Amino acid sequence: MRKKIVAGNWKMNMELAEGLKLAESVDTYFRLKPSRAEVVLCTPFIHLAGVAELLKDGKLCLGAQNCASEPSGAYTGEISPAMIKSTGAGYVIIGHSERRSYYHEDNDILNRKAKLALSNGLKVIFCVGEVLGERESGKHFEVVKNQVENGLFNLTAEEITNVVVAYEPVWAIGTGLTATPEQAQEIHQFIRGLFSEKYGKEIAENLTILYGGSCKPSNAAEIFSMPDVDGGLIGGAALKKDDFIAIVEAIR
Ligand code: PEP
Repeated sequence: MRKKIVAGNWKMNMELAEGLKLAESVDTYFRLKPSRAEVVLCTPFIHLAGVAELLKDGKLCLGAQNCASEPSGAYTGEISPAMIKSTGAGYVIIGHSERRSYYHEDNDILNRKAKLALSNGLKVIFCVGEVLGERESGKHFEVVKNQVENGLFNLTAEEITNVVVAYEPVWAIGTGLTATPEQAQEIHQFIRGLFSEKYGKEIAENLTILYGGSCKPSNAAEIFSMPDVDGGLIGGAALKKDDFIAIVEAIR
């Protein structure tokens, strides 16, 4: 059975002390009541080492939200996958729509980041998803296919076992709009089909595909009940302890 995952993407929120406090309270909860899902906190870089210390010997995993595309050197302001790994983090989000649109990260650079992250022992949460106009003109399958193929399909089958795909329709991120469970299922099934054609049925069946976009306690259970939805990537609601825990608990 493939792994269910709920990952919280804190984005650029919370100063160090606030972040540590949130991580500690979520960690304490899941130490006492382990989740059915793997729970990942994707914090800003500055929180990673401190949160890693708190999470030691517990149930939660830790991730970053981005990484450099180069291994080391004169890249002022960048953070390499090796540096992320050295904090104790095990995951990195790559290709979030905010990175694609505000920082102009294209499939080529995202593919380089994914390869480098994987070669440094990180698991990659690779985000794909269409903007509103693309959905309205019926291009969402084509857009997602292009992002998946150009972002990931030169990876080896072994590398793919350390990749999680997050389908995040851009029109649903931070907007309060959510894909219907049927819309999510349709495109998750499509994504799994692409992996099946390229890497075979077994790898596709084991691939965890997350939904992201205004997931909240009130809609999580219905979305997560879809057969090809294996959990969620959670933005705004991951900043509120109770909401995040309720979303994790919606996993069956
Ligand atoms: C995200 O940014 O990955 C996300 C899903 O955000 P939100 O839950 O706030 O829509």
